[in-house]
Amino acid sequence: MRGIVLFLAYVLGLIIMAAAYGADETGIPVPTPSPAVEDAAFTAFLGDFRSQALAAGITAETYDAATRTISRNQRVFDHNLNQPEFTRPIWDYIDNAVSAERISNGRALAVGDADILTRIHDRYHVPPEILVSIWGNESDYGRGMGRYNMFEALATLSYDGPRTDYARPQLIAALKMMQRENYPADTMTSSWAGAFGQTQFVPTTFLGEAVDGDGDGKIDLWTSPGDALASTAHVIAGAGWVDGKPWGYEVALPPSFAYEDADLDIAKSVAAWRKLGVKTIAGTELPAADQTASIYLPAGAQGPAFLVFPNFKVVLRYNNAASYALAVCLLGDQIKGAPAVVAAWPRQLLPLNRDERLTLQTSLLALGFDIGKADGLIGAKSRAAVRGWQKAHALPADGYATQDVLARIAMEAHSQVADR
Ligand code: CA
Repeated sequence: MRGIVLFLAYVLGLIIMAAAYGADETGIPVPTPSPAVEDAAFTAFLGDFRSQALAAGITAETYDAATRTISRNQRVFDHNLNQPEFTRPIWDYIDNAVSAERISNGRALAVGDADILTRIHDRYHVPPEILVSIWGNESDYGRGMGRYNMFEALATLSYDGPRTDYARPQLIAALKMMQRENYPADTMTSSWAGAFGQTQFVPTTFLGEAVDGDGDGKIDLWTSPGDALASTAHVIAGAGWVDGKPWGYEVALPPSFAYEDADLDIAKSVAAWRKLGVKTIAGTELPAADQTASIYLPAGAQGPAFLVFPNFKVVLRYNNAASYALAVCLLGDQIKGAPAVVAAWPRQLLPLNRDERLTLQTSLLALGFDIGKADGLIGAKSRAAVRGWQKAHALPADGYATQDVLARIAMEAHSQVADR
């Protein structure tokens, strides 16, 4: 995949994280950023960075105009170091992302902006409902685009902390944006992570992909939905969206289903899934398709199941968080008038807090599973280890870490240590 989309995926991943903890990207009003930290070292950093920016083709005039008034932003700094205590359950995330209000606002915009959406569809072959859904998911249709000074946010992230490698090229790209498009520096607002506009682009993606969608000769992703939607369509098309093909749909799994097959990295033909007893949620045979598909279980074996096709993975390339991709696809469906998810979410399951996630990981390590370092973040390796443990115990191997799974794994690790 092109680096540009990966950059976007990276930053949007941050935004999902931020959205999950009640940050400004959800559309919740943002308090005025707290007073800047007085920091001579930050001023010195801006001075050092100036020569890098000038070497990259930024004029002294642009650099000085962009950085003249900025300080190290304490709220950005806090977001940057935030280690979330709780992971928000997927059902809460989907409830918010695909709310009745989101759906009805999306439908109204799909009708109101039908002309421009049709033109974008003709040009990029990405369907209107997916674009409107991305718009809704990224900024609640422009209600929550972020109110930070983009240069202050990116310079704070560039100065120190865990995201300097991401932020420094973005800061250079933001300066190039300003220079190329003649944006006044003080109009360039973003999220704390530097994503901006109606569909929350990052500056590097803007430079490579943004287009003038409304035909006024300028590109403005903040105020022109036409520009933002066309630019998003350009990225989604480049990521490989195939027009006329489904992203996926909800399915029913048979009692005998081998849950280790439910993995976005395992793709089978629809005929193969049929043979394994997978049906539509209505109980009918899966419709024929010429693309392979994967089974995605966002909440493990106890929750809804989806058969997902390559277009779902295109949304994942846009933003590498499966919960985000599902929210985009489900909201798109409902904007188009398709029904909601049928199966119940397992809302009784309590998410693991950070200590519990660490306990799970240290227990898996003690049991000999190679999950790298225990970092409190449940990623692919931890899920694969949970799957392995479940399989060894003849449990549904969905890789989903519930409180029950944690208790059993921790007990086993404890008794193994005691036996030594
Ligand atoms: Ca324009």
